[in-house]
Amino acid sequence: MRRLGNFLAATLAVVAIISLVNSCTWRGQTYDQSMSKPTPAPAYVPSPSPAPRSARAGELRGVWVSDTTKLDWDSATENLHRAGFNTIFANLASGGAAFYPNSHALPSVVPDVTDPVARGIDLAHERGLAVDAKQIVMFMFKAPPAFQRQLLAANRVMRGPDGHPILQSGYTWLCPSVPANRALIGSSVTEMVKRYPVDGIQFDYIRFSEQPCCFCENCRREFEQSIGTRVRHWPADVLEGPYVAKFNQWRQHEINEWIADLSSRARLVRPGIAVSAAVFSDLERAKEEKGQDWKLWLDRGYVDYVCTMTYTPDMHDFESKVRKEQMWASQRNKVVVGIGSWKFDRMSQLTTQILMTRQLGAPGFVLFSYDDAAMRNFLPELGPSAAKF
Ligand SMILES: [Zn+2]
Repeated sequence: MRRLGNFLAATLAVVAIISLVNSCTWRGQTYDQSMSKPTPAPAYVPSPSPAPRSARAGELRGVWVSDTTKLDWDSATENLHRAGFNTIFANLASGGAAFYPNSHALPSVVPDVTDPVARGIDLAHERGLAVDAKQIVMFMFKAPPAFQRQLLAANRVMRGPDGHPILQSGYTWLCPSVPANRALIGSSVTEMVKRYPVDGIQFDYIRFSEQPCCFCENCRREFEQSIGTRVRHWPADVLEGPYVAKFNQWRQHEINEWIADLSSRARLVRPGIAVSAAVFSDLERAKEEKGQDWKLWLDRGYVDYVCTMTYTPDMHDFESKVRKEQMWASQRNKVVVGIGSWKFDRMSQLTTQILMTRQLGAPGFVLFSYDDAAMRNFLPELGPSAAKF
């Protein structure tokens, strides 16, 4: 196994080669299709002059930053710039916490001092990197316990078949059918796009949990209203009974409505902003199990592109998944491939997958995650040698 330093150097080389020979063109685009259903958000206003996107006029070469509160923006932007990357997806808020100071929408879980995010975005722009704000929509990652208790008491969290709240790593999930939850995240999106000169906004965890859900009182009421009748045996009739298909359709509809609403809000504040979503690779499973119909989002223009989570160290599996992803999208240059670099222990695994994304016609790639790259210290080591590219 090669050393991590070699791993990073080779990664840089591949990225540089890709940027030199890449013929794919990735562009954030705006759409003027009307949303499928009116939402509380203002109607989308097409932008007559989309924001400049010079930082990534070609292939998107990005990283996801998982924990932005620990990000050293100075070294990260410098190292990423030298390594030939052009986009940072920075996690700025979850369903229950803001990772920047003085939020009026969500509880801020960082000190109220000088804002590292504002300074960091400036640094990134100076170094030719675009910054997209990532909004975790439903998962209440890092939410303060008091806020979680408040939402639990107000019956605003996802619940399993037994009525208990869905928990992941000790955090609850927002139920998508509760109007107050949509308003909460809508406010967060509006705030971050107004406050920061971000180049785009990405929605993550815009889906149901992997655990069977949501069977809360509000979901039952909304579903029954949608089919015009009472469900006698709840949740049995929607889990295995006569309403399985209709319940799945309704779940997808709820998520479709929410992402249309959030996208509309972001575009209203900043016409021309690039809107994207992080999604599961397998479209069919994403729809059935998580209510995540990302093909429909692309087709209706709710998002400008998606980033898949194609996390596998197996090369054949990766190739098969990327082929399917590109095939599912009816428009070209709309499916950026998320690469699970944290799963790799050899440089060749990453370089091979990056090259595959090009060969298979993807408009770019995103590594998950920068946090891992920083922890293993493979990006900073590339600095001096990167200059030659
Ligand atoms: Zn619910």
